[in-house]
Amino acid sequence: MKLPFAESYKIKMVENLRRSTREEREQWIKEARYNLFNLRSDRVFIDLLTDSGTGAMSDQQWSAMMLGDESYAGASSYYKMKEAIRDILGFPYFLPTHQGRAAENVLFSVLVKDGDVVPGNSHFDTTKGHIEFRKACAVDCTIDEAFDTQVEHPFKGNLDLDKLEDVLKSHPASRIPFVVVTLTCNSSGGQPVSMRNLKDVHAMAQNYGVRVLFDSARFAENAYFIKKREEGYQDKEIREIVREMFEYADMMTMSSKKDAIVNIGGFIGLKEEKLFREASTYNIMFEGYITYGGMSGRDMNALAQGLYEGTHFDYLDARIRQVAYLGSRLEAFGIPVQKPFGGHAIFVDANKFLPELPREQFRAQTLAVELYLEAGVRAVEIGTLLADRDPQTRENRYPELELLRLTIPRRVYTNNHMELVATALKNVYDRRNDISSGLKIINEAPIMRHFTVELEKV
Ligand SMILES: *Cc1c(COP(=O)(O)O)cnc(C)c1O
Repeated sequence: MKLPFAESYKIKMVENLRRSTREEREQWIKEARYNLFNLRSDRVFIDLLTDSGTGAMSDQQWSAMMLGDESYAGASSYYKMKEAIRDILGFPYFLPTHQGRAAENVLFSVLVKDGDVVPGNSHFDTTKGHIEFRKACAVDCTIDEAFDTQVEHPFKGNLDLDKLEDVLKSHPASRIPFVVVTLTCNSSGGQPVSMRNLKDVHAMAQNYGVRVLFDSARFAENAYFIKKREEGYQDKEIREIVREMFEYADMMTMSSKKDAIVNIGGFIGLKEEKLFREASTYNIMFEGYITYGGMSGRDMNALAQGLYEGTHFDYLDARIRQVAYLGSRLEAFGIPVQKPFGGHAIFVDANKFLPELPREQFRAQTLAVELYLEAGVRAVEIGTLLADRDPQTRENRYPELELLRLTIPRRVYTNNHMELVATALKNVYDRRNDISSGLKIINEAPIMRHFTVELEKV
């Protein structure tokens, strides 16, 4: 008999979780103004808000922390990180930053100007925020298949080359600071980009004299999908695939809280010395000296080790199988989920789940609240609240996909937890026709409102 799959790690330390009653949760979610970001974490049983900084570090990472060098300049921890980035990703220049959006802030301070246009594949919210904050415009060039949750396409993160060329043709190169390729594409459902597409995008951008930036938070998961789904890569090591991917980038920004499996950290990777010098000035102003950039030595050590662990096939296989396990349980209950399953999360199609609820009442957010009430599971809206208002018209932007994201932290929960989440959502699904009213906004911030928005029941 063929042996079943099992994780290639065991658990050394546990953290207890607190259960709650439905009455308690009703009170708490009301106090949190129906925004799950406002909930205290001890009022959550299973936390699928994000996979960002929520992973479990290994014994190797914890021991690397003890060897952290806290020197202000030239710390050995900086050199460990530099070595790992050169070795795994192939970038000769790098700047540490305290997280991914800080990397964007520093790099975009050099490159993005008022009136610029930045094409990409469904830009991540902070990326878009940093572009729009500089009065530039993000243009989404993702393939159309990405916007239909039921279409099976192996690389729904791909850029549509015709859409991209339209943008590149209709603006001078001096107005296009770079093309962003998000790996995997978070906003469209943790969907990967194929090697072919990376190659084609880079060739096209080069043709027009435009740089390519990889927003790389989940580059290792992307490499796993290339190995599994793209012809010619089955027998390649994850590290070989990663090195090839980054041949097609001029620059990278990284949220190390994702595929480097640390609780905090980020960096910028660069191939051009001139750009490195320019960005260094901003790094010193915003983040810290160039050999620590807002990170402690111990954090840089853990990050360097995490880059190696995060690019092991066995680790990635366990992670992505767990995500798929949750997805297949939901599918078995008939719940509409994004297909194929993404790398870090399962995305529930709230437009199909609650089609009768007016979209002005925030379908995915309503669903998030219902799931929390059902079982203390915290998920996150990837829909109208996240899409924000149009910066010019100030009207709500209704994205094509209204999703509830169930995000799986790395090496944290067991499949029994996944089973509970699936059952909780099934219970909500069974009573979906009783959910006849949603939420309305009582308070919101001018940009990135989803983090702090306050809502009440309609
Ligand atoms: C998380 C993330 C970021 C921002 O990184 P932070 O570490 O949260 O600041 C940028 N891009 C993508 C694709 C991300 O997933």
